[in-house]
Amino acid sequence: MERAVNRNTILLVGSACGYPHGIIDDIESLAVVAYKYNIPLHVDCCLGGFLVPFVKDAGFHIDPVDFSVPGVTSISCDTHKYGFTPKGSSIIMYSDKKYRQYQYSVYTEWPGGIYISPTIAGSRSGANIAACWAALLYYGYNGYVESTRKILSVRQKIMNGLEKIDDIFVLGKPSLSVVAFGSKRFDIFRLTDLLTKKGWNINALQFPSALHICLTMCHVIDGVADDFIRDVRESVAICMQNPDEKTSGSGVIYGMAQQIPDRSMVSDMACQYLNSIYETTD
Ligand SMILES: *Cc1c(COP(=O)(O)O)cnc(C)c1O
Repeated sequence: MERAVNRNTILLVGSACGYPHGIIDDIESLAVVAYKYNIPLHVDCCLGGFLVPFVKDAGFHIDPVDFSVPGVTSISCDTHKYGFTPKGSSIIMYSDKKYRQYQYSVYTEWPGGIYISPTIAGSRSGANIAACWAALLYYGYNGYVESTRKILSVRQKIMNGLEKIDDIFVLGKPSLSVVAFGSKRFDIFRLTDLLTKKGWNINALQFPSALHICLTMCHVIDGVADDFIRDVRESVAICMQNPDEKTSGSGVIYGMAQQIPDRSMVSDMACQYLNSIYETTD
């Protein structure tokens, strides 16, 4: 990233953690670069926002990714993920007031008055904010420490279980709630349909091809992690009976979409999917 910095660089961004692989970027090193060139550094803590602050009290360790790291200037954090609040609210925090006004939307020439709004979004629901606040109070600090402990424990268990299965591998070192896995022996997308048939909700990743499981309070229930590891092991064994077999089912779309060099075609195909949902004729 340091090599990519030039005079047009207005911001560096790191993830804690990134959605695809659940990996936390090296925020301390990014902060050194940000500090050196006097550029703001944003930490995307949307997924991890209600895990990261509780990791230590939950008995786990991660390197610091917050304002204790000199150079971090903003952090985003989604309440509706591990804060367990309704969707529609989110948080952005700044290390200094001077950054805040850049998020404001101001239009002074409008006949309807001087338009000013805290964000690009206009009208928003106060009910959402009240429901969010109620959920935060309901769980409280100790509630989040407890959910973090359970989710990180089940992630550790699933990561260890997956690492013991031959012919698949875990991508990187996931340290929060997501574990991604791939294979060098067979097309990993073949696992998607096998695991979906067994009732698992698994996400397909691309560049490189992989799958991930995003762990929530549904997965901390006794026996769920063991069931998952068993189902992956059985499904991998089925794939390895014919390692070179082509993917069928939904995996085809992901496999094919990665092969198309003209990304606008992939975008058109995705729009066609939404069009088909809006279509009301029989
Ligand atoms: C959810 C998420 C976001 C924000 O996604 P929206 O659903 O568009 O609000 C950003 N970064 C990460 C890592 C996320 O998980």
